[in-house]
Amino acid sequence: MSAVSLKNRVIVLDFDGVVWDSVDEAFEQAWNAWTLLHGKPTLAYAGARERFREGRWQCRDGHDFYVLFQALVTDVTSEPGHWSADAFRAERVRFEGGAEAARFVEAFYASRSRMRDDDTERWLALQRPFPGVVEQVSELTSEARAVAVATTKDAPSATLLLEHAGVRGICVYGREVSLDKRVHLRAIGEHFGVAMADMVFVEDLLENLRGVSELGVHRVLADWGYNTASERAAALLEGVAVVSLADFADRLRAIW
Ligand SMILES: [Mg+2]
Repeated sequence: MSAVSLKNRVIVLDFDGVVWDSVDEAFEQAWNAWTLLHGKPTLAYAGARERFREGRWQCRDGHDFYVLFQALVTDVTSEPGHWSADAFRAERVRFEGGAEAARFVEAFYASRSRMRDDDTERWLALQRPFPGVVEQVSELTSEARAVAVATTKDAPSATLLLEHAGVRGICVYGREVSLDKRVHLRAIGEHFGVAMADMVFVEDLLENLRGVSELGVHRVLADWGYNTASERAAALLEGVAVVSLADFADRLRAIW
């Protein structure tokens, strides 16, 4: 368990829910996208944001934000945060390929880009790194072969947030590359010339970790992210390490 052990390893981090607490920012963009398409929702903003936060663990990308947000708006008594993963998946499939969902997703990402570029201070204020994560990621960056980010966010947004926090030298693989984390991980392994067994992937969504099980990368669930106690318990049963914010860098060092 020394710094030397990381020098030929690549650490891959999911962004939202691992490095950045961005759920309020995502809610703001969802609110803006809905308003653009349908007019302002007749909901109390803060209350809806809390219900959105509760349902965040179900979401992987803009399409899932649509599924979640429309549930909040169309049924104010619904509690999508308490839906089973299967129930949410069924809703996801129901809206897949729909024009309405596609328009929302486009408006969601356009709203984010516009706010990021035109009202940067407000955009930054809607989100923040998890406490202590910047320090640990910076340490890992100097010890490992590389630290990379694999995210369904757009790379310019993730890169700007990292730079704003003073974290440099991280390669971001974003939605421009793929929405599939398997594609990100293969590309990162190729780019840095390392085998999957020399990579670790830190995620907050168990579904995404299940999706990469075939690759042979070390899989780690971040317990501070957008997941639930039952998901954390399921992760352990499936052989996925569960780590806490206080010592996640040490837990990664101890893998090899
Ligand atoms: Mg995440």
